[in-house]
Order: sequence, then C-alpha cells, then structure tokens
Amino acid sequence: MLKRELQIFTFEDLLNHFPLRHLDRTSIQLIGQINPEMDHVQVRGVVISMETLGERRAKRLVVYLRDKTGIIELIWFQGITWVEKLITVGNEYLAFGKLGFFLGKPQLNHPEIESVKESNAAGKSYLEPIYPVTEKLKARGLNGRAIGKLMEQLFLVLEEKEVAEFIPISLLQKHNYISRYKAYLHLHFPKTLAHHQVALERMKYEELFVAQMRLGMLRSTRHRFSRGITFAQVGETFNTFYHEHLPFELTNAQKRVLKEIRQDTGTGRQMNRLLQGDVGSGKTIVALMSMLIAVDNGFQSCIMAPTEILARQHAEQFALLLAPLGIEVGLLTGSTKTAERRTILTGIEQGTMKIVVGTHALIEDAVRFKNLGLAVIDEQHKFGVAQRAKLWEKNNVPPHVLVMTATPIPRTLAMTAYGDLDYSVIDELPPGRTPITTVHRLDDARPQVMDFIKSEIKLGRQIYFIFPLIEESEKLQYEDLMRGYENIKSWFPEPQYWISMVHGRMNGDQKEVNMKRFVERDTQIMVATTVIEVGVNVPNASVMVIESAEKFGLSQLHQLRGRVGRGSEKSYCILLSGSQVGKDAKDRLKVMCSTNDGFKIAEKDLELRGPGDIQGTRQSGALDFKLANIVDDRALLEIARNEVEQLLSVDPELSLPEHHPLSVHLKQKRGGHAWAKIS
Ligand code: ADP
Ligand code: MG
Repeated sequence: MLKRELQIFTFEDLLNHFPLRHLDRTSIQLIGQINPEMDHVQVRGVVISMETLGERRAKRLVVYLRDKTGIIELIWFQGITWVEKLITVGNEYLAFGKLGFFLGKPQLNHPEIESVKESNAAGKSYLEPIYPVTEKLKARGLNGRAIGKLMEQLFLVLEEKEVAEFIPISLLQKHNYISRYKAYLHLHFPKTLAHHQVALERMKYEELFVAQMRLGMLRSTRHRFSRGITFAQVGETFNTFYHEHLPFELTNAQKRVLKEIRQDTGTGRQMNRLLQGDVGSGKTIVALMSMLIAVDNGFQSCIMAPTEILARQHAEQFALLLAPLGIEVGLLTGSTKTAERRTILTGIEQGTMKIVVGTHALIEDAVRFKNLGLAVIDEQHKFGVAQRAKLWEKNNVPPHVLVMTATPIPRTLAMTAYGDLDYSVIDELPPGRTPITTVHRLDDARPQVMDFIKSEIKLGRQIYFIFPLIEESEKLQYEDLMRGYENIKSWFPEPQYWISMVHGRMNGDQKEVNMKRFVERDTQIMVATTVIEVGVNVPNASVMVIESAEKFGLSQLHQLRGRVGRGSEKSYCILLSGSQVGKDAKDRLKVMCSTNDGFKIAEKDLELRGPGDIQGTRQSGALDFKLANIVDDRALLEIARNEVEQLLSVDPELSLPEHHPLSVHLKQKRGGHAWAKIS
C-alpha cells in the first residue's frame, strides 16, 4: 500500500528528494587513529567485555570493542536488554555511529552494530545517504532512515528506461554526461564520492538548463508575438539634441545601449529592457534620449523615480537640457499643488505634454496619457512589480518599457531572476572621474575625520553625513539622528558652517528646501538618512561620511558612496563604526574599501548573503534550485544559458523531433514558476 501510494503520489517527489549528505561507510577506521576531527566512524573489532552501569535514567550498557590498535566504548541508554542479547563477548563486530569523546576516550552512542560473520566480513561498504525530512513526509510517518529504505526499494523496481531523458542527446553527449537514471542512482547511492560528484554536476546542469529554457521561451515568445508601438524613425528632435545640445560626448557604452534601444523600439514589438549601470555611469541621459525618440515619433513618454527629490532633480535637469528645443517637461509628484496638477493632467490627457517626470503619483488612475509610447523606471529595485505593471496599462498597446537599476545584479543572477527581459549594461564610467578613496575609521578617530572634513570645506567642497534609515515609527533611530546632528553641529558651528538636513519624517517641502540649499551651496554639510541614497546628484560634494556603517548592506553602502565622486575632484568615502563589529559587517566594510566596482560588489554581496536574499528576487521563484546554486555554479549556468539560446535560435518552438521530449517535459512540469516577469 505504501508502495502504491508512493507511485501514485510521490514517485518523482521521492526521486527528487535528495540526500543532504552521505556518511562515508566505505572505510573502516583503526581505533588508535580516531581523532576528534572525525564525525561518523566505522570500526571493526572484538568485544572484550560489556557491563551495565548507573541507575535508572543514567543506566547504560557499555560495550568495549578492541582492534589491534586500541579500544573504543560503545554505549546504549535504551534497548539495553535487546542489545545485550545481540552481542556475544569474544565475537567480532562492525560498529558505525557518531563519534563522541568522554574524558579523552572515544565512544559511539547508540551505534549500528552487526556481527562480522553476518555481513560477510567486508563490512558495509557504501556511502549512506542522509535525507532531510520534510513536514509532508513526516506526516506520512517517514523519518530520514525510512526514506533511505524506501529509496532502496524504489531503485529495486525502477528500470533505467523509466527515467526518460529529455535534454537533447547531442548535448548530453557533448558534455559526456551519464544517463539520467544513473545520475539519480548515484545521487542517492553513490559507490564513491567521485561518482556522486559526476551525478551532481549532471543534475545541476539539468536544473539550470530547464530554468533557462523556460526563460528563453518566454523571451522568444515575447520577441515573436508581442505587438508594440513602432518608433519608425529617429528624427529631428533627437538629432538636434545629439548634435547641438548634448553637454558631453557619450561613452561607448551609452552609445551601444542607445542603439539597442533604438533597434528594439523600431521593430514593432514591445521593448522590455533592463538597463544596468553602476552609480554615476550616466543612465539618465540614455533615458532622456530614448524619450526623445518617442517624441520624434509623436508619442509621449514618462520616467518614474522612487523619491520626490530624485524626480525633481530629473525634471530640472531635463527642463534645462530641453529648453533650447522648446520641449516642456511636466513634473508630477505627491506634493504637486492642485492648480498645477490640473494643468499637467490636462496636458498629459491631451497629449501636449510630451515628457513627464514623476514619482508614484504617475501611476494613479487620474493620470491618463493620450498616447504613452515609452515608460522609463529609474532605480527599479525600489518599486514593486505591481507598481511597475500599472504603468504599462496606461496605454492600450503596451508602451515600451525601460527599467534602470544601479544596484548591479551579478550577471548570473540577472540571467535567472530577470532572464526573460532583454538586458543592457553600461559598463563604463564617463571619462575624467577620479576613483573614490574609501576608508574605514573607528568612532574614536572622529577628531581626525572632522579635521579632514574642515580642510575639504576650506577647499570649497561639500560633505554628506549619512545615518541609518529612519522609518516613521523608529523613534530610537530618530533620536540617534538628532543626537548625531547636534554633535556635527558642535564640530561645525554657525556662522562659519551651515548644515542641511533631510530625513524621512520631513514633508516634501521641508526636504526640498534643505536639498536646495545644499545644491545651491548655501550649506556645506548635508546630514541625511538613506532617503538620499538614490540618484541625487551634487557634483561638488567630495566627502561621504557614513555613520554606523556596519548597519548598512553592501549594495546600500555602494549606492551611498555613489553620491560623491560625481565631479572631477578627488572624493572620499569614510565609513565610521564602533570597535565591536561582527564578522559579516567587517567583511562588508573591507569589500567597500577594496573596490569601487559595483559589479564586483554585487558578486561579493551575493557570496556573503547567499542567493536567497537578493532584493526583489526572493519571491520570484527564480532561485529555487534543489541542487544548483547560482553563486557556485555560475560557470555551468552560463554554459546552459548559451546552449539554450543556441537551441532556441534553431528551433524556437521545439518542433524538431529531437526536441520533442524536452517540449513534453516543459509542458508537463506542473504550473511552471512564477518568474519575476516585469511586464
Ligand atoms: P546614474 O547612472 O547613476 O543615474 P547619472 O545619469 O546621474 O548617473 O550621471 C552621473 C553624472 O554623469 C551626471 O552629472 C551626468 O551629467 C554625467 N554624465 C553622464 N554621461 C556622461 C558622459 N558621457 N560624459 C560626461 N559626463 C556624463
Ligand atoms: Mg540615476
């Protein structure tokens, strides 16, 4: 009955229920060579005596087993009578169990034991699988060892041909992979660790291949079937801007990305593109110029930013750049005044307002575009999927979508988490930037830090002090910030120094006034929380001091640091912390001091935190691998990805006979994953 139940309900589940690890029972240890480093040991020897010790709950059976090198104690607290019957003094036994030490003597508690005669003298020579026990299996009365037994049963009846291959034979051959059946067998019951390794590699590949296949098919279906707006031409607006008003030469990376966008939007299918570029790599101008292509084709476009400060800054910058072209730029945020709001909404609805910058306010129902052709989302990781999706619904034919992020996601992660998107990267900073010097200082070095800051201010530079985020409810942190502010003020007294402050509890106007004073150099110092994290651009700021730096995550530290080093002056980032800093935090600070490269930092971040934790991808299901791990197996992932691309370019619908099993497999696998689709 159990068997029937298994076959019906959990045959595959069981097969895919992989052991956590294997206990090495291939070797027999000499007792004299046992050391505390060992975990489980198997020994073979003669029982020289046994005795019952202790009373009641401390009552135990101690069996002394001797080989030619020493003696080990085998101990039972339960089933004493039963074990006593099993063992005869003077006979030879094999014992296997978890190693412990008591008063320097090795012992095995509740070992498995069997007579050497019965086990054919050779001993139990295999790697014993140790299974994780899920709640579901526990509910069916299955513990780890019972699963092992069932698995043995399963392999007794399972035939090789029942475990069908679905990955194209040519690929399996190319990789020289063992059959799927063998791979399963060796994952559960390997003869040697080397066998296990070979099987593991093969099944990891299979997992990654399937995941990439699903994403690849989504991508290719979208490419072939999604209808979108065609930006048929690059016209006068774009060209005039490019040739006459662009304040600098574009970097090659910027040019390349613009070209990719131009190609995408010209095909008649909807663009759905992720643009990654490190902080300061110049994504904004790429967004603006893409919006000009929309203008040239008679369409409206909008850009949504996560904070009011950032939206305002984009709007001002756009207005300045576009003034010579006579293009008006609308700004719509939560604090746009009613009258102005009405004018902008009308302009949007009638299509006279071609370029709109805004915050979340853009996705409100009241905002109705006449013909939205392109929606740009800046700092996309700050928005939820639902929020982004609302923007695409603002036109009956979905607008082209460009999402930009400066939180570099390692390539491998992007490939899995956002693998159904097209992907561009600006991997080059504008010329003339001097790298930022980053140092870690303990709190007691504050006097020197302050002296240094004074000397920078004397040179005309501006300074940021950042405190950990305050949510409205977090009273303590608010008090920390205020204390910090007072402290900074005591080092930098008025009227020689002026200080701005921006934090999450202020309303939009207060924030704006303070920000503006800093931007216009009325104040030399900006004390802020992480509201300042994204996007803000004050090129004259040259020092970023991060208070309690140990409390920040790596990508956040990198984002914050990106607020300086925007001009041509040498910039500094000073990470302050107490002396008691945990190991992880110390690692983060070390990484920050060692590199400015956002992609390297992202890789490190992934290594330190593991893939389960990366912003915005947790619920995506994209990282739910049983065996593979995108950090350790990135090389294999890249291989699988390339092979999938190759395969789909030849046979996008998997209609060739050799791809039939694959097609069937992809269809039958229940439900598919809720991949992090952006559109
Ligand atoms: P991010 O990618 O972080 O959003 P921004 O778009 O804010 O970066 O650009 C950072 C700064 O670099 C801005 O002051 C911008 O004007 C400037 N910039 C962008 N592209 C170039 C370029 N090709 N040459 C020189 N400066 C540039
Ligand atoms: Mg930006």
